[in-house]
Amino acid sequence: MVASMLRSSTADINFTCKLCAAAVSLLLGRIGRWSGREIACSALSLARSALAERDNESCFFLRRLQSTLVIAEHNNEVLLPVTQNTLSAAKKIGGDVSVLIAGTKCTPAAEAISKAGGVSKVLVAESDVFKGFTAETLTPLILASQKQFKFTHILAPATAFGKSVLPRVAAKLDVSPITDIIGIKDANTFVRTIYAGNAILTLEAKDPVKVITVRGTAFPPLPLEGGSAATEKAPEGDFKTDLVEWLSQELSKSDRPELTSAKAIVSGGRGLKSGDNFKLLYDLADKLNAAVGASRAAVDAGFVPNDLQIGQTGKIVAPDLYIAVGISGAIQHLAGMKDSKTIVAINKDPEAPIFQVADYGLVADLFKAVPELTSKL
Ligand SMILES: Cc1cc2nc3c(=O)[nH]c(=O)nc-3n(C[C@H](O)[C@H](O)[C@H](O)COP(=O)(O)OP(=O)(O)OC[C@H]3O[C@@H](n4cnc5c(N)ncnc54)[C@H](O)[C@@H]3O)c2cc1C
Repeated sequence: MVASMLRSSTADINFTCKLCAAAVSLLLGRIGRWSGREIACSALSLARSALAERDNESCFFLRRLQSTLVIAEHNNEVLLPVTQNTLSAAKKIGGDVSVLIAGTKCTPAAEAISKAGGVSKVLVAESDVFKGFTAETLTPLILASQKQFKFTHILAPATAFGKSVLPRVAAKLDVSPITDIIGIKDANTFVRTIYAGNAILTLEAKDPVKVITVRGTAFPPLPLEGGSAATEKAPEGDFKTDLVEWLSQELSKSDRPELTSAKAIVSGGRGLKSGDNFKLLYDLADKLNAAVGASRAAVDAGFVPNDLQIGQTGKIVAPDLYIAVGISGAIQHLAGMKDSKTIVAINKDPEAPIFQVADYGLVADLFKAVPELTSKL
């Protein structure tokens, strides 16, 4: 900061000197032998160069002033991969990148993130208060960090965690949250989808602090190597709340890859006809080391639990391979998977909209095609 201020005042002095030179040149011309045109040109060019230099300096100064706080999502032991995608977005904004890790015993997660290249500082807050990572306890901690370090941007992944915490932070800061961004044009200009992914919106944010959730699939993960960020204690305070009390949680355990970070996904829809028939997809997924997903119709019908839902109101995924089985391809489903690198569709209806986004389509009865495919892998 001191360096930035020094640079700024040097820029101001330079600018003032250049403008003085322009004025002196005018005066000299007046008492000397220059023609009116020569005097005006010389003064103008000096003034222009002063302005151009000042603009360059202030751009540099502004870039130095950007500082982003990334709210890490983790389970105390390990970072969720989407935090690395959010870090990439933070780096794209430019300026300093700090990370806030809040949890109960989160030193391992803090150590992991301090190795990420381009992270300058890791703020760690360890307390039982942060059990369950509730928005009500994290918000005052984030606000205290923002107050102390004057971050210009606060970022979190657009997951259930980020979607719960950041709107509260934005409301407390009296700024508009900018949700689920898929692109960054500059420090004030962001890209996001609207109308279930059917239109792309570019917005310029004028709020002094930008509070942003980031769509993980739109940014590459920042490797956790090459850096050695300083770790320090986050601001302390009374972050207890009467508003909520975290009691317990039951996490579904699975040996399969997590849906949002899986390289391959086999996804089933209403065409599967029952939850038992999803076994066909699990067998195929086992061969591909894939995660299993589902359409909302399959979830609503009770075939599979709702944490498998992909789409506008489910999870957003972009694996290398997405196999849609017995899924029609409604826009709300496409909103969650159409950025997948290779899409394969198996559907008995040749007119099913899913074939419009599929790289490979198989018009067939899934009850024959899927076991055949599995047996050949
Ligand atoms: C606000 C809103 C949000 C929504 N959010 C989501 C969301 O997040 N995710 C989502 O998925 N949906 C969402 N929906 C619902 C969405 O509009 C569709 O209703 C849903 O995606 C349809 O699921 P489906 O493709 O499994 O079922 P269907 O549309 O019924 O398609 C079933 C497909 O299976 C095929 N089929 C049937 N039998 C066989 C067979 N034996 N072999 C091969 N193919 C077969 C059929 O040809 C058909 O194409 C949302 C809707 C709204 C209004």
